[in-house]
Amino acid sequence: MTQKIKILLLFILIVQFSWAQTTTATKEVKTKAYLKGEYKKEAKGKVYTTKNQHKVEVIAPIANPKAQIKNIILLIGDGMGVSEVFAGLSANNDQLYIEYANRIGFQKTKSKNKYKTDSAAGGTSMACGIKTNNGFVGMDADSNSVESILETAAKHGKATGLVAAAKITHATPASFIAHVPSRKQYEDIAEFFISDDLDLFIGGGLDDFNKREDSRTLLPDLESKGFQIVKTEEELIEIKEGKVAALLSSGHIAKYPVRGEFLPNSTNKAIEILSQNDQGFFLMVEGSQIDWGGHDNSVEYVVEEMLDFDRTVGEVLKFAADDGNTLVIITADHETGGMSVHDANPEKGRLEGRFTTGSHTSVMVPVFAYGPGADAFMGIYENTEVFHKMLEAFKFDTSKASNHKK
Ligand code: MG
Ligand code: ZN
Repeated sequence: MTQKIKILLLFILIVQFSWAQTTTATKEVKTKAYLKGEYKKEAKGKVYTTKNQHKVEVIAPIANPKAQIKNIILLIGDGMGVSEVFAGLSANNDQLYIEYANRIGFQKTKSKNKYKTDSAAGGTSMACGIKTNNGFVGMDADSNSVESILETAAKHGKATGLVAAAKITHATPASFIAHVPSRKQYEDIAEFFISDDLDLFIGGGLDDFNKREDSRTLLPDLESKGFQIVKTEEELIEIKEGKVAALLSSGHIAKYPVRGEFLPNSTNKAIEILSQNDQGFFLMVEGSQIDWGGHDNSVEYVVEEMLDFDRTVGEVLKFAADDGNTLVIITADHETGGMSVHDANPEKGRLEGRFTTGSHTSVMVPVFAYGPGADAFMGIYENTEVFHKMLEAFKFDTSKASNHKK
């Protein structure tokens, strides 16, 4: 054999070898299990069947989407990402009241110092229109107090209210009235409720007002601001007008169904009282414990809280449909649990869900809007925009308030 032929043979061998390698690699890709419809075995998710399904009545679309916005009702489902909403929907015969708030957007939830926000920073962004550090309530990252939409609304003659299925001093409601560098300063937060800017609050947390480290009781201070103090739901039903401080539990409010219809009932009472103001009102309602269901990685806890929140949304939408001058916004501060919905039997209320964390996640969360001005909430934007969009909806002249500039 000549040298040339030897080299040629070697060349052919190499080409064949690499050809064979390519073919093997191609075969490997082709035989990937998922391409044959076979999937990696995974542990079963957590299955829960609710008995608390509710029928969703038809909510008429708003007659005049260009009507003047007199009232804003902001409903915050703490920890309510798309999966939590869909878990509720899937467990409730494929229907939710939230679906009627069909101007839909997403808000990005990162805080000033963390991609993964907490409820204090998230609440403050929506309440005050600024990014702040996790844990901060109604303050920027340099500990400057920032006026909230509730406080601005009050200064413009609106009646204002806060309702929460937790301590009223907890991070989310606190973001709308208090200004402290730590969400854990519950007793300091309580002092901010002695306010001319606030007309009504309903939630738990009585101990932060009258079993304090400084052994003060804030109840007489609340009374001096004109609040009627209420400690039971029975008493609350009797109240028909005026300022209301309803502290219905020493600590947090119980979970659903232990607390019964606390959230829809309290929301209706808030609307009944605040809507008596000729100049309109601002109300924030929090479904506080969707978040706690996520932290617990409990499908049951998430579904029951989600459905209770949706029944509350239903009450609000019925009022708004009737009223015609009320903008309703339903959103969350962040997602909790990294939840996913894997399977469901919507008629039976049966749901299989899984979680990826016991903490919050960084995913964007949905914003649903209904009523005049709802179109402004479509799109993808930062959580601070929720504040600016509400401010624009109310058409306040805020040219002098520096912290309201974008
Ligand atoms: Mg909260
Ligand atoms: Zn949380």
